[in-house]
Amino acid sequence: MIARVLPLTQTRAIKGLFDYILPQELADQVAVGSLLRVPFAGRVVQAVVAELTPSSELPDERLATVAAVLPARLPADLVKLAQWIGDEYCSTAARALNVMLPPGATRGLTEKLVLTAVLTDAGQSALTDGTRLTEGQRAVLTDLAASGPVPASQLGTATLRRLEGRGLVQLEHTVSSRRPDRHAVSSISKAAPKLTVEQQAALVPILDAFAVLANASMMGTEAVSTPERAAATFLLHGVTGSGKTEVYLQAAAAALEAGLGVIILVPEIGLTPQALARFEARFGDVVAVLHSGMSEGKRHDEWLRLARGEARVCVGPRSAIFAPMDEIGLIVVDEEHESSYKHEGDPRYDARTVAERRAADHGAVLLYGSATPRPESVHSAARLRLDQRVDGGALPSVEILDMRGLHNPLHPQTWLALADCRRDGGKAIVLLNRRGWSNFLSCGSCGRVWMCPNCEVTLVLHRTGGHVACHHCGHREPVPGKCPDCGSVSVARHGAGTERLEHELVTALATPEFPVFRLDADASGLDARASILERFHAASAGVLVGTQMIAKGHDFADVGLGVVVDADQTMRFPDFRAEERTFSLVTQLAGRTGRGGHGRVLVQTMEPLARPIQLAAQHDSDGFLNGELQRRRALAYPPFATLIRVVCSSEDDDGAYAATTALRQLIEPPGGRVLGPAPLFMLRGKHRSQLVVKTAERTAAIAAVRSAVDVIAGTKPHRGVSISVDVDPQ
Ligand code: ADP
Ligand code: ZN
Ligand code: ZN
Repeated sequence: MIARVLPLTQTRAIKGLFDYILPQELADQVAVGSLLRVPFAGRVVQAVVAELTPSSELPDERLATVAAVLPARLPADLVKLAQWIGDEYCSTAARALNVMLPPGATRGLTEKLVLTAVLTDAGQSALTDGTRLTEGQRAVLTDLAASGPVPASQLGTATLRRLEGRGLVQLEHTVSSRRPDRHAVSSISKAAPKLTVEQQAALVPILDAFAVLANASMMGTEAVSTPERAAATFLLHGVTGSGKTEVYLQAAAAALEAGLGVIILVPEIGLTPQALARFEARFGDVVAVLHSGMSEGKRHDEWLRLARGEARVCVGPRSAIFAPMDEIGLIVVDEEHESSYKHEGDPRYDARTVAERRAADHGAVLLYGSATPRPESVHSAARLRLDQRVDGGALPSVEILDMRGLHNPLHPQTWLALADCRRDGGKAIVLLNRRGWSNFLSCGSCGRVWMCPNCEVTLVLHRTGGHVACHHCGHREPVPGKCPDCGSVSVARHGAGTERLEHELVTALATPEFPVFRLDADASGLDARASILERFHAASAGVLVGTQMIAKGHDFADVGLGVVVDADQTMRFPDFRAEERTFSLVTQLAGRTGRGGHGRVLVQTMEPLARPIQLAAQHDSDGFLNGELQRRRALAYPPFATLIRVVCSSEDDDGAYAATTALRQLIEPPGGRVLGPAPLFMLRGKHRSQLVVKTAERTAAIAAVRSAVDVIAGTKPHRGVSISVDVDPQ
């Protein structure tokens, strides 16, 4: 037997499958997806089996033999998916496999075996038939009778050994699952509520799609549609609080009913517990969770529960799209507009696109959900609408505040609204997407601006921390007392970040009854963030100041006032998605404000007439999406074209530029053009330069870029240049 494998090496140059002889005595432990150790280029490396064939094209004497079989095995469909990701994102299958392999597998992490005591029939009878037992023995048997199998260490091994000798208990090694901590779910109702008319109408086509699937599999036909498409792709476009999650739950119930598995993706780890709690309350133990915040042991065991089919629902952030499940019936991508679905490491995969692919492979239903969907999904998916909040409340009124000519970070109207909020004992959220005290420092005499020595960006003042810091590379220096160039002590601070805003609010408004909280990435760790959110949640009144983090999917039913401090911030990026981000930010905040029906949202801006701000204020998402699709069609942006970004970076001045120039000469994208090379600002001490390919022929253009990169990467004139390719950059 021949195993064709993908060696798990980091090298881009190693491509394709390598054949090894699989000795007969190992063959029955090996399947597609098995992890092996094989000799490779003078070392022994790990490799994943992609195919098993009776013979190789190479003569036997040129083939090496598999060295060992490791216990981990990836489902076969994920091996195919890894090969596809390697191609689609101009990476390699090995790098894609690295993000999919069972947690700890490459280090040989396996299940934990625990000695467990089980009551035998004889032991059961011994409790009542007058068998002579010591008090200790009787207690142990009674415990086992009441609670079922128990780890031996809890009962005392000596007594158990004696009982085992008499045939009253049996001791066996069983797999112990390290289960993640479960959250208290008592407050969440377990029963499915009666759906609203809108929810019902949204659910019908989804259930119909399942019915078609179930019929097709009963008739033994392959997936219903061509393998290029999911069985059906839906976009659940519903305002916040419209009950989207309930639709996911009932669609999941239908998939489980049909014997099919379910994957639920959420945009970030911080939101996993919330989603997990609701799915567990409804479905119990068949729900598993996978995310990088869990210990490796727990992840490994949850992974196995899924692989064995003990768990049939997987909840998690983007990497949960690789949950080891066969026969997937439903994939949900909640808050599908969030850019966190894009992976920033290599391979730069987009979990939403991978979800499309995986749904297509399984003939599964793909369900995107959002209050502010991407134009891409509006364009490609069947749209289902939820326009009403479940509680019947109206959306809050949104007022635009013109900041031109004002110097205080908050508009006078905002101060008044906050004072009203305090007087009424209410809650407010103030959103400013900029951490720190002020965004830059300059010398009042010579104009020197404090810059990061590694990146071409200004240093941000963090007053509490007593330093100025770079938000790109983490470089820090003490707050300057005077200018090193001219010696002047007049150092001016410009702009306001969350830290300064918090300070101003504390000074002007805070009381014991009206506390001010701050949440941003400076609150390190998930726990610190969770505890700030919890304290704000528990308070009866107060203000929460923070970055975008606070507007993401968190639920504060009782927030009556929402403020966006610098709505233009997202528009200043030179990016075709800038307007979409601005619209989404304002709409998402509005969605989380005034659930009771008396909400008010204030949007501070220097561009009060800007389209996304005007349309968000009118809650006109159709108007926005239609305009956005027209604009993108006219300018040939996604979804009407594919963008591929190539960034070269180097230590020296012109290495990066030379490599991008060379690439540009090689890439001739079919149905498109190449923009650049364009210089980028220096980052972490690296000079950078980029190309952008814009094309209507996605697959061919990706292939063109891939082969150009293969030619340039690692060649002599461009040694020391690193090249990163980003398909569908965010
Ligand atoms: P979304 O995900 O669209 O923001 P949720 O699914 O979180 O909305 O629903 C908002 C609230 O309404 C939740 O507390 C949920 O339990 C409740 N809810 C959803 N559907 C119903 C229903 N049909 N009947 C009663 N309550 C519902
Ligand atoms: Zn100076
Ligand atoms: Zn820096």
